This record gives sequence, C-alpha cells and structure tokens, in this order.
Amino acid sequence: MIWPTAERNVTAAALSCERRGQNSNGPAIVATTFRVGVGYDIHRLAEDRRLVLGGVQIDFPLGLTGHSDGDAVLHAVTDALLGAAGLPDIGDLFPDTDPAYQDIDSRKLLAAAIDKVTEAGYSPNNIDLIVHAEQPRLSQHKRAIAASIAALTGLDPSAVSVKAKTNEGLGPLGHADGIACTAITTVVRDH
Ligand code: MG
Repeated sequence: MIWPTAERNVTAAALSCERRGQNSNGPAIVATTFRVGVGYDIHRLAEDRRLVLGGVQIDFPLGLTGHSDGDAVLHAVTDALLGAAGLPDIGDLFPDTDPAYQDIDSRKLLAAAIDKVTEAGYSPNNIDLIVHAEQPRLSQHKRAIAASIAALTGLDPSAVSVKAKTNEGLGPLGHADGIACTAITTVVRDH
C-alpha cells in the first residue's frame, strides 16, 4: 500500500500504535517529520591550549588544537544538527582558512548553525553523543557538558545525553593523542 504524504511523515512507531488503536488512552499522536543527523570530530591534544568540551572548560594540562577553540564536542554536535537539516557542514560554513574563525569560541559557531537550522524550518529535538577520551576521565564532567549543550541548543537537559568512553588504550585516541566526539541528533520540522 502506498501511504499518502502526510501519513508517510508519521513515525513508524506512531503508525504502529495508530493501527493498534493505542492512541485513545495514550499521548496524542501528531504527524511530525523528524530527521536524523550524525557528526564526528577529532582534535589533537597539545600544550598551551585550553581544554574546552561542549562549551565547558576542563582543568587539564593539555588542550585541543585547532583553528577555533578546538571544541570537538560542539563541532560534532554542530555538524549533526546541520546534517539533520540537510545543510552544508561546519567546514563549508566556517572554513578553517578564514581568519574570522581564528580561535573563535565554538559556542558562536553552534549558535550560527542553529540559526541556519531554524531558517531551514527545523528545531533541535534531541542530542546523543559519545566523547572518546583516554585522558582526562570525563565521568565527572558529563553532566556539566550536557547542561551546557542543552542551554546552547534550547533543549531540555533530559534531551541531551553525554557518554564518555576511553579507547581502552588502543590507537591514537587510546594513547591520549587527541579527543574525538560522535554525535547523533534529531530535528523536528517547524513549518
Ligand atoms: Mg573541529
């Protein structure tokens, strides 16, 4: 059966509920378009740099190198949101060859990207991310990073999940040569 456009836009789960007639006692089922985006970034650790992850400054002897402040977490989140909205990626929008972005606070890049996502008709819906870091151990910083990203994106803190993983000593990440982040987001269509 070919579903009409409006029905194709209803999530599969909602459709499944609707077919089972489970919407009468549960939350209202609203035809909504969700899109998913993924982002990844990695930066080297070096001396004489601040370590900023998710907009949170972390006390550590090394920091992340980069044309900007090197915040790999915000860069991954930014790319995931842009991708979810079908927009050009962070490197296209904010090229590292442009002096305007030298040492820029990545919170500004995320804010500019969210403006573009909004202009495209979407709003952030949730963010789930993994920070890959052998050092420093980030378990004590996960909540602060999630709260920071929630504030920057306008999301409820419950819609932002931050996980921290070591690389079990394997490879460059496992040798603490750098820190990486993988982020997945959903956005919801506003209009
Ligand atoms: Mg980057």
